[in-house]
Amino acid sequence: MSAQNYHGAGLNLVKSHNLQVVLLSLLHEATLSRVQIAQKTNLSNTTITNLIAELIGQGLISEIEDNCQEPAENRPVGRPRTCIRLEPNARFVLGIHIGVGLFRIGVSNITNEMLHNRLVTFEVDLPADRVIDQMVATAEQVILESGVDRARILGVGVGASGLVDFQTGVNLLAPNLNWRDVPLREILSQRLNLPVVVDNNVRTMALGETYFGAGRGVDSLAFVYGRVGVGAGLIFNGQVFRGSTKGAGEIGHTPVLLRGGETCRCGNRGCLETLVSENALLRQADQIARRNPGGILAHTLADENDISPIERVFRAGRSGDDQVRAMLEDRSYYLGAALAGLVNIFNPELILLGGIFARGQDFFLEPVRRAVAELSFGGMGKRVRIEATSFGWKAGVLGASALALMNLFYLHNQN
Ligand SMILES: [Zn+2]
Repeated sequence: MSAQNYHGAGLNLVKSHNLQVVLLSLLHEATLSRVQIAQKTNLSNTTITNLIAELIGQGLISEIEDNCQEPAENRPVGRPRTCIRLEPNARFVLGIHIGVGLFRIGVSNITNEMLHNRLVTFEVDLPADRVIDQMVATAEQVILESGVDRARILGVGVGASGLVDFQTGVNLLAPNLNWRDVPLREILSQRLNLPVVVDNNVRTMALGETYFGAGRGVDSLAFVYGRVGVGAGLIFNGQVFRGSTKGAGEIGHTPVLLRGGETCRCGNRGCLETLVSENALLRQADQIARRNPGGILAHTLADENDISPIERVFRAGRSGDDQVRAMLEDRSYYLGAALAGLVNIFNPELILLGGIFARGQDFFLEPVRRAVAELSFGGMGKRVRIEATSFGWKAGVLGASALALMNLFYLHNQN
């Protein structure tokens, strides 16, 4: 049996399903005794014993002497219990995050620890096939540099920009890249000779947080990402919610300024994106700097070229530019208004902010929380937790590798 085909050819579906239930409970709990696994999975002791033996044989789990996180009164007297844990470096996946004008490729193990990664920037008008050429070369380079055995790589998860058909792996529309109907799965799986799964990049971030980050144990969450565009990934009952035409989560086009708003790239007026995208904030910052040529922001924008323009705006706010702070607070209110709408309809337990909203979390988090609490119905907005992503700059690539891990390892064959 090849290492890649970890559950074995010809294995019956029930057994394959049971193996995955055991792996998933170990992902949630880190270490468990055989008894605890039996309790959590409702499988018989004999079944557990056989499954554990099989997984140890495949090198996917190992036994350690530990207390299995059990309270002292439950532990047997005398020798410590034998616990089971995942063997993190038993298998690996590649994650490819595609953003506007950049992609990042990383190698992660089965607990989604990233071993190595590379960032590549490209001109946004470069045709898709040229970008894919660079992606394939970079993927091979990252595999080589990471030192992992290629036979242990289960496959590739791709978080693509814009509309994606998860079933076919086609990037239907990425307006900011000018891509239409790009068959990412077909091309990448042929060129890399590995299984490939593709979804929208913000959905992969939501999935990543759900199984490997701040969303563990949470049933429903929204991941809201802002940069060139603004989008949301929605998780419901631990599953990605895609909507009827694959477009669920287009929160950036929520109308929040109904009269006199700017025209959005979608053609409507007053969309959230026209107020809180990176470019919208930079346009506001430019006006502030022009009105105040001697102010902190004008100085920061002109002189501090070591960081990106939006980071300079945040830096000016942190250095005490009151107009910048007021502008960001004002824009946070619109973000909060759109999130209040999301809360009213979706009622998630947790909302995670990523991209520029995470980088500037000291400006966004509090006013967004206040706006959501004020504008949501029936106190729902007071109960929802709103935090910044736990993954920081890695959110995209760890989301992409989570997509591969869930679809090619933990939840393989279950859908
Ligand atoms: Zn719009």
